[in-house]
Amino acid sequence: MSNSNQKSTTMSIVRKHDIKAQKKYGQNFLTDDGVLDEIVEAAGVCDRDHIVEIGPGLGALTKRLAEKASHVTAIEIDSQMIPVLDEVLEGFDNTRVICADVLKTDMKEIADTYPGEDVKIVANLPYYITTPIVTSLLESGIHYRSITVMVQTEVAERMQTGPGSKDYGALSLAVQYYSKPEIMIDVPPECFYPMPGVGSSVIKLDLYEEPPVKVSDPAFMFRIIKASFMQRRKTLQNALQNNPDTRISREKTSGALEKLGLDPLIRGEALTLEQFAALSDLLV
Ligand code: SAM
Repeated sequence: MSNSNQKSTTMSIVRKHDIKAQKKYGQNFLTDDGVLDEIVEAAGVCDRDHIVEIGPGLGALTKRLAEKASHVTAIEIDSQMIPVLDEVLEGFDNTRVICADVLKTDMKEIADTYPGEDVKIVANLPYYITTPIVTSLLESGIHYRSITVMVQTEVAERMQTGPGSKDYGALSLAVQYYSKPEIMIDVPPECFYPMPGVGSSVIKLDLYEEPPVKVSDPAFMFRIIKASFMQRRKTLQNALQNNPDTRISREKTSGALEKLGLDPLIRGEALTLEQFAALSDLLV
Protein backbone atom coordinates (compact mmCIF):
# COMPACT_ATOMS: atom_id res chain seq x y z
CA MET A 1 0.00 0.00 0.00
CA SER A 2 1.42 3.37 -0.96
CA ASN A 3 1.59 5.98 1.73
CA SER A 4 2.58 9.17 0.02
CA ASN A 5 0.59 12.28 -0.94
CA GLN A 6 -2.47 12.10 1.28
CA LYS A 7 -0.30 11.72 4.36
CA SER A 8 1.52 15.01 3.74
CA THR A 9 -1.75 16.71 2.67
CA THR A 10 -3.43 15.57 5.90
CA MET A 11 -0.53 16.76 8.05
CA SER A 12 -0.46 20.19 6.41
CA ILE A 13 -4.26 20.59 6.82
CA VAL A 14 -3.95 19.58 10.48
CA ARG A 15 -1.24 22.21 11.04
CA LYS A 16 -2.91 24.96 9.02
CA HIS A 17 -6.36 24.58 10.61
CA ASP A 18 -5.03 23.52 14.02
CA ILE A 19 -7.18 20.36 13.91
CA LYS A 20 -7.28 18.21 17.04
CA ALA A 21 -8.65 14.80 16.11
CA GLN A 22 -11.68 14.29 18.36
CA LYS A 23 -11.92 10.87 19.96
CA LYS A 24 -15.57 11.46 20.87
CA TYR A 25 -16.37 11.63 17.12
CA GLY A 26 -14.22 8.60 16.22
CA GLN A 27 -11.86 10.71 14.13
CA ASN A 28 -9.16 8.59 12.49
CA PHE A 29 -8.37 10.11 9.11
CA LEU A 30 -7.32 7.89 6.22
CA THR A 31 -3.91 8.91 4.92
CA ASP A 32 -3.12 6.07 2.52
CA ASP A 33 -3.67 6.88 -1.17
CA GLY A 34 -3.83 3.20 -2.15
CA VAL A 35 -6.56 2.42 0.37
CA LEU A 36 -8.57 5.52 -0.57
CA ASP A 37 -8.48 4.48 -4.25
CA GLU A 38 -9.41 0.90 -3.35
CA ILE A 39 -12.51 2.05 -1.44
CA VAL A 40 -13.76 4.02 -4.47
CA GLU A 41 -13.06 0.97 -6.62
CA ALA A 42 -14.76 -1.45 -4.19
CA ALA A 43 -17.87 0.74 -4.12
CA GLY A 44 -17.97 0.69 -7.94
CA VAL A 45 -18.52 4.46 -8.08
CA CYS A 46 -19.57 5.70 -11.53
CA ASP A 47 -21.06 8.79 -13.18
CA ARG A 48 -24.66 7.64 -12.64
CA ASP A 49 -24.23 7.58 -8.85
CA HIS A 50 -25.29 9.88 -6.07
CA ILE A 51 -22.85 9.02 -3.30
CA VAL A 52 -23.80 9.75 0.28
CA GLU A 53 -20.70 9.90 2.46
CA ILE A 54 -21.02 9.74 6.23
CA GLY A 55 -18.27 11.59 8.09
CA PRO A 56 -16.13 13.19 5.34
CA GLY A 57 -13.66 14.54 7.94
CA LEU A 58 -10.82 16.30 6.08
CA GLY A 59 -12.26 15.31 2.69
CA ALA A 60 -9.64 12.80 1.49
CA LEU A 61 -12.26 10.27 0.36
CA THR A 62 -14.85 12.92 -0.60
CA LYS A 63 -12.51 14.42 -3.18
CA ARG A 64 -11.98 11.04 -4.86
CA LEU A 65 -15.70 10.27 -4.80
CA ALA A 66 -16.48 13.65 -6.39
CA GLU A 67 -14.09 12.89 -9.26
CA LYS A 68 -16.03 9.74 -10.21
CA ALA A 69 -19.65 10.25 -9.13
CA SER A 70 -22.44 12.37 -10.56
CA HIS A 71 -23.17 13.89 -7.14
CA VAL A 72 -21.81 13.59 -3.60
CA THR A 73 -23.64 14.52 -0.40
CA ALA A 74 -21.35 14.44 2.65
CA ILE A 75 -22.78 14.54 6.18
CA GLU A 76 -20.36 15.68 8.90
CA ILE A 77 -21.17 16.28 12.57
CA ASP A 78 -18.05 18.27 13.48
CA SER A 79 -18.27 21.95 12.49
CA GLN A 80 -14.45 22.38 12.67
CA MET A 81 -14.29 20.25 9.48
CA ILE A 82 -16.54 22.56 7.42
CA PRO A 83 -13.96 25.25 6.47
CA VAL A 84 -11.49 22.47 5.63
CA LEU A 85 -14.04 20.74 3.41
CA ASP A 86 -14.90 24.04 1.68
CA GLU A 87 -11.22 24.42 0.83
CA VAL A 88 -10.51 20.81 -0.18
CA LEU A 89 -13.65 20.57 -2.31
CA GLU A 90 -13.27 23.92 -4.03
CA GLY A 91 -14.00 23.52 -7.72
CA PHE A 92 -16.25 20.47 -7.28
CA ASP A 93 -19.70 21.83 -8.07
CA ASN A 94 -21.28 18.34 -7.75
CA THR A 95 -20.64 18.13 -4.01
CA ARG A 96 -22.55 19.46 -1.01
CA VAL A 97 -21.65 19.20 2.65
CA ILE A 98 -24.30 19.02 5.37
CA CYS A 99 -23.20 19.72 8.92
CA ALA A 100 -25.37 17.35 10.97
CA ASP A 101 -25.55 14.15 12.99
CA VAL A 102 -26.28 11.39 10.48
CA LEU A 103 -28.52 9.63 13.00
CA LYS A 104 -30.77 12.70 13.13
CA THR A 105 -30.77 13.43 9.39
CA ASP A 106 -33.69 12.89 7.01
CA MET A 107 -31.94 10.37 4.77
CA LYS A 108 -35.02 9.87 2.58
CA GLU A 109 -34.94 13.52 1.58
CA ILE A 110 -31.23 13.24 0.76
CA ALA A 111 -31.70 10.00 -1.21
CA ASP A 112 -34.50 11.59 -3.27
CA THR A 113 -32.47 14.66 -4.29
CA TYR A 114 -31.28 13.38 -7.68
CA PRO A 115 -34.00 11.18 -9.16
CA GLY A 116 -32.72 8.57 -11.59
CA GLU A 117 -29.31 8.28 -9.93
CA ASP A 118 -28.25 5.19 -7.96
CA VAL A 119 -27.77 6.09 -4.32
CA LYS A 120 -24.75 4.43 -2.70
CA ILE A 121 -23.36 4.91 0.78
CA VAL A 122 -19.58 5.13 1.07
CA ALA A 123 -17.86 5.92 4.36
CA ASN A 124 -14.98 5.45 6.71
CA LEU A 125 -17.37 5.20 9.64
CA PRO A 126 -16.89 6.55 13.16
CA TYR A 127 -16.44 3.24 15.03
CA TYR A 128 -18.32 4.30 18.18
CA ILE A 129 -21.63 4.28 16.31
CA THR A 130 -21.07 1.73 13.53
CA THR A 131 -23.94 -0.56 14.55
CA PRO A 132 -26.64 2.14 14.95
CA ILE A 133 -25.63 3.73 11.63
CA VAL A 134 -25.58 0.47 9.65
CA THR A 135 -28.80 -0.79 11.26
CA SER A 136 -30.66 2.44 10.59
CA LEU A 137 -29.48 2.50 6.95
CA LEU A 138 -30.65 -1.09 6.45
CA GLU A 139 -33.99 -0.62 8.19
CA SER A 140 -34.75 2.75 6.58
CA GLY A 141 -36.70 1.29 3.65
CA ILE A 142 -34.60 3.50 1.33
CA HIS A 143 -33.33 1.58 -1.65
CA TYR A 144 -29.59 2.19 -1.42
CA ARG A 145 -27.82 0.32 -4.19
CA SER A 146 -24.95 -0.61 -1.86
CA ILE A 147 -23.27 0.35 1.39
CA THR A 148 -19.45 0.26 1.35
CA VAL A 149 -17.97 1.11 4.71
CA MET A 150 -14.76 0.94 6.70
CA VAL A 151 -15.44 -0.60 10.10
CA GLN A 152 -13.50 -2.37 12.84
CA THR A 153 -12.37 -5.78 11.46
CA GLU A 154 -14.15 -7.56 14.30
CA VAL A 155 -17.43 -5.85 13.34
CA ALA A 156 -16.96 -6.69 9.64
CA GLU A 157 -16.52 -10.34 10.64
CA ARG A 158 -19.67 -10.17 12.78
CA MET A 159 -21.64 -8.93 9.78
CA GLN A 160 -20.53 -11.84 7.60
CA THR A 161 -20.65 -14.79 9.98
CA GLY A 162 -23.27 -17.50 10.62
CA PRO A 163 -24.33 -19.88 13.44
CA GLY A 164 -21.52 -21.66 15.26
CA SER A 165 -19.30 -18.58 15.53
CA LYS A 166 -19.03 -16.55 18.74
CA ASP A 167 -19.32 -13.43 16.56
CA TYR A 168 -22.77 -14.43 15.27
CA GLY A 169 -25.50 -12.14 16.57
CA ALA A 170 -28.32 -9.69 15.88
CA LEU A 171 -26.07 -7.56 13.64
CA SER A 172 -25.15 -10.59 11.45
CA LEU A 173 -28.82 -11.41 10.96
CA ALA A 174 -29.90 -7.83 10.20
CA VAL A 175 -27.09 -7.42 7.65
CA GLN A 176 -27.82 -10.78 6.01
CA TYR A 177 -31.59 -10.22 5.87
CA TYR A 178 -31.16 -7.00 3.90
CA SER A 179 -27.92 -7.58 1.97
CA LYS A 180 -25.12 -9.80 0.76
CA PRO A 181 -22.00 -8.78 2.72
CA GLU A 182 -18.45 -9.13 1.43
CA ILE A 183 -15.22 -8.07 3.14
CA MET A 184 -13.20 -6.29 0.43
CA ILE A 185 -10.02 -4.91 2.06
CA ASP A 186 -8.18 -5.29 5.37
CA VAL A 187 -6.55 -2.04 6.47
CA PRO A 188 -3.81 -1.80 9.15
CA PRO A 189 -3.72 1.04 11.74
CA GLU A 190 -0.72 2.70 10.02
CA CYS A 191 -3.01 3.86 7.21
CA PHE A 192 -4.75 6.38 9.53
CA TYR A 193 -3.90 9.53 11.46
CA PRO A 194 -4.13 9.15 14.39
CA MET A 195 -3.73 5.37 14.38
CA PRO A 196 -6.73 3.46 15.78
CA GLY A 197 -6.07 0.78 18.40
CA VAL A 198 -7.79 -1.88 16.25
CA GLY A 199 -7.59 -3.36 12.77
CA SER A 200 -10.04 -2.11 10.14
CA SER A 201 -11.76 -3.63 7.12
CA VAL A 202 -13.85 -2.34 4.26
CA ILE A 203 -17.07 -4.29 3.86
CA LYS A 204 -19.52 -3.96 1.00
CA LEU A 205 -23.21 -4.71 1.53
CA ASP A 206 -25.09 -5.32 -1.72
CA LEU A 207 -28.71 -4.67 -0.88
CA TYR A 208 -31.31 -7.20 -2.03
CA GLU A 209 -34.36 -6.19 -4.03
CA GLU A 210 -36.22 -8.85 -2.01
CA PRO A 211 -34.97 -10.36 1.27
CA PRO A 212 -33.67 -13.95 0.92
CA VAL A 213 -36.31 -15.28 3.38
CA LYS A 214 -40.03 -14.61 3.60
CA VAL A 215 -41.42 -13.60 6.98
CA SER A 216 -44.86 -12.15 7.71
CA ASP A 217 -43.70 -9.58 10.28
CA PRO A 218 -39.98 -8.68 9.97
CA ALA A 219 -40.12 -6.29 12.95
CA PHE A 220 -41.41 -9.11 15.17
CA MET A 221 -38.68 -11.46 13.88
CA PHE A 222 -36.05 -8.89 14.81
CA ARG A 223 -37.54 -8.56 18.31
CA ILE A 224 -37.14 -12.33 18.69
CA ILE A 225 -33.60 -12.19 17.34
CA LYS A 226 -32.60 -9.34 19.68
CA ALA A 227 -34.15 -11.09 22.70
CA SER A 228 -32.38 -14.38 21.96
CA PHE A 229 -28.94 -12.77 21.65
CA MET A 230 -29.39 -10.56 24.70
CA GLN A 231 -29.19 -13.71 26.77
CA ARG A 232 -27.21 -15.86 24.40
CA ARG A 233 -26.17 -18.45 27.00
CA LYS A 234 -29.82 -19.16 27.83
CA THR A 235 -32.16 -21.46 25.93
CA LEU A 236 -34.39 -19.72 23.42
CA GLN A 237 -37.42 -20.68 25.54
CA ASN A 238 -36.05 -18.83 28.56
CA ALA A 239 -34.70 -15.87 26.62
CA LEU A 240 -38.06 -15.20 24.93
CA GLN A 241 -39.99 -15.59 28.17
CA ASN A 242 -37.68 -13.29 30.18
CA ASN A 243 -37.38 -10.46 27.68
CA PRO A 244 -39.89 -7.61 28.20
CA ASP A 245 -40.06 -7.05 24.41
CA THR A 246 -41.24 -10.61 23.70
CA ARG A 247 -42.68 -12.25 26.86
CA ILE A 248 -43.53 -15.44 24.98
CA SER A 249 -44.29 -18.42 27.20
CA ARG A 250 -41.82 -21.31 27.34
CA GLU A 251 -44.53 -23.72 26.24
CA LYS A 252 -45.36 -21.71 23.12
CA THR A 253 -41.71 -21.47 22.06
CA SER A 254 -40.95 -25.12 22.69
CA GLY A 255 -44.09 -26.16 20.74
CA ALA A 256 -42.99 -24.01 17.78
CA LEU A 257 -39.43 -25.38 17.93
CA GLU A 258 -40.76 -28.94 17.89
CA LYS A 259 -42.90 -28.16 14.84
CA LEU A 260 -39.73 -27.00 13.09
CA GLY A 261 -37.94 -30.23 14.07
CA LEU A 262 -35.58 -28.35 16.42
CA ASP A 263 -34.47 -29.27 19.93
CA PRO A 264 -36.81 -27.42 22.39
CA LEU A 265 -33.71 -26.64 24.48
CA ILE A 266 -31.78 -25.03 21.62
CA ARG A 267 -30.13 -21.63 22.04
CA GLY A 268 -30.90 -18.78 19.66
CA GLU A 269 -27.24 -18.63 18.57
CA ALA A 270 -27.70 -21.98 16.80
CA LEU A 271 -30.52 -20.82 14.50
CA THR A 272 -30.06 -19.71 10.91
CA LEU A 273 -31.90 -16.72 9.41
CA GLU A 274 -34.33 -19.13 7.69
CA GLN A 275 -35.06 -20.81 11.04
CA PHE A 276 -35.63 -17.47 12.80
CA ALA A 277 -38.06 -16.51 10.01
CA ALA A 278 -39.98 -19.79 10.31
CA LEU A 279 -40.05 -19.55 14.11
CA SER A 280 -41.25 -15.97 13.98
CA ASP A 281 -44.16 -16.94 11.68
CA LEU A 282 -45.23 -19.60 14.20
CA LEU A 283 -44.99 -17.28 17.21
CA VAL A 284 -46.46 -14.09 15.79
N1 SAM B 1 -13.82 10.23 5.97
C1 SAM B 1 -12.70 10.71 6.72
C2 SAM B 1 -11.49 9.89 6.39
O1 SAM B 1 -11.66 8.78 5.88
O2 SAM B 1 -10.36 10.35 6.63
C3 SAM B 1 -12.96 10.71 8.24
C4 SAM B 1 -13.38 9.39 8.83
S1 SAM B 1 -13.45 9.37 10.58
C5 SAM B 1 -13.18 7.68 10.92
C6 SAM B 1 -15.18 9.52 10.97
C7 SAM B 1 -15.82 10.86 10.63
O3 SAM B 1 -17.22 10.80 11.01
C8 SAM B 1 -15.25 12.05 11.37
O4 SAM B 1 -15.05 13.11 10.48
C9 SAM B 1 -16.32 12.41 12.41
O5 SAM B 1 -16.33 13.77 12.79
C10 SAM B 1 -17.59 12.02 11.67
N2 SAM B 1 -18.75 11.70 12.54
C11 SAM B 1 -18.72 11.16 13.79
N3 SAM B 1 -19.98 10.99 14.27
C12 SAM B 1 -20.82 11.44 13.30
C13 SAM B 1 -22.22 11.55 13.19
N4 SAM B 1 -23.04 11.14 14.20
N5 SAM B 1 -22.77 12.08 12.07
C14 SAM B 1 -21.95 12.51 11.04
N6 SAM B 1 -20.59 12.42 11.09
C15 SAM B 1 -20.03 11.89 12.18
